Amino acid sequence: MLIDKYDRVHDYLRISLTDHCNLRCFYCMPEEDYSFLPNQQLMQADEIIELAKIFVELGVKKIRLTGGEPLVRKEAAFIMDELGKLGVELTITTNGIRVHRFIENFKQAGIRSVNISLDTLQPEKFLLLTRRDHFKNVYDNIQLLLQDHFRVKVNVVVVKGVNDSEIIDFIEWTREAPVHIRFIEFMPFDGNRWNSDKLVTWQQMLSVISERYPIMPLENQPHDTCKKYEVPGHAGSFAVISTMSAPFCSGCNRIRLTADGKIKNCLFSENETDLLRLFRQGADIKEIIQRSIMEKHKELGGQFSNDFQHLDANHIHNRSMIAIGG
Ligand code: SAM
Ligand code: SF4
Repeated sequence: MLIDKYDRVHDYLRISLTDHCNLRCFYCMPEEDYSFLPNQQLMQADEIIELAKIFVELGVKKIRLTGGEPLVRKEAAFIMDELGKLGVELTITTNGIRVHRFIENFKQAGIRSVNISLDTLQPEKFLLLTRRDHFKNVYDNIQLLLQDHFRVKVNVVVVKGVNDSEIIDFIEWTREAPVHIRFIEFMPFDGNRWNSDKLVTWQQMLSVISERYPIMPLENQPHDTCKKYEVPGHAGSFAVISTMSAPFCSGCNRIRLTADGKIKNCLFSENETDLLRLFRQGADIKEIIQRSIMEKHKELGGQFSNDFQHLDANHIHNRSMIAIGG
C-alpha cells in the first residue's frame, strides 16, 4: 500500500501519455514558445504498462489517462487495451476532439466514464480560448458518448470575465442531457498568467446558480475532489472543484506520472522523482515510489495555502499544466 506520513492511502494514478496537444488552451499551455518533449524522452508504451503494473501491485485501484491530449499519442489504443487488463477502474480525461475514433477502444478497455474538457458553449469563444476551431467536433463527440451510454463529465475551468457568464448556460444543458458538469476553480501553473482577480470561487459559482435554481447537494465519495449537486428534475448534475479556495488535500489519494516518467506526488509539488530513468537503470522501483509518496507535503505541494487573495503565482515552482498531466 502507498501511504504517506499523514496516513493518506494513495490508490489513484494519473498517467500522462504525452505533453503534445491539438488545442492551445490559454490556462494550460504557456503562451511563450513551448517545446514539446521529443519522443525518446517519453515513457514508451511498454514502459507505461510495466510501470502501471508495479503501481497496481502497490495498491493502485484506479488509473486515469491524461496529458497533454492522451488521444494524440500514437499508441493510445494499445495502451488502453493493455491497462484495461490490469483489473483497475480505467478512465480518461480528453479534450474530446478524437473521441469518435476511440469509442470502440474505450469499450474494449472497460472505460465507461469519460471526462471531456469544454469551457464554453459558444463556438467563437472556443476558438479564442483554445486557438483552434473544434467546438462542433467536441460537442458532437459528447453527444456520441451519451448515445452510447457512457458517463460523461464535462470539465469547465471558470475564469472571471472569460466564461463565468456561461455558468447558467451549462446548468441549462443538464436539464435534458445527462451530462455532469464540473466547474473548476482556475489554478496557477507555469506561464498561465494566473492572478487572484481571475478566480471565481466555488461559493461564487454556487451563489450564481442558486439565484436561478433550487439546488440539492448529492452524496460525495471519500476521495471526491468535488462537491456535487443537482437541480431537481434535471437529467444531469453539476459539481464544483474548489482547489484554490477550499483545498481537499486531507483526503488526497492521487499520484501523477508525467509523460517523461516523473512522479509528482502532488499537482503542485516542486520536487519530482525521475522514475523512468531509475526504471531504465533497473533500480528497485517499488521502494522509490513508496519513498516519493512518503515525502508528500500536507497541502498544495507545500507551496501555498488557501489564502489565494495574497498568492503571488510567480513564487510557485512548477511545470505548466500541459507538462504535468491534469
Ligand atoms: N487534454 C485533456 C483535456 O483537456 O481534458 C487532458 C489534459 S488537461 C491538462 C486536464 C484537465 O486540466 C482539463 O480538464 C483542463 O481543463 C484542466 N486544467 C488545465 N489547466 C488548468 C488550470 N490552470 N486550472 C484548472 N484546471 C486546468
Ligand atoms: Fe490541451 Fe487539455 Fe491543456 Fe487544453 S487543457 S491545452 S486540450 S492539454
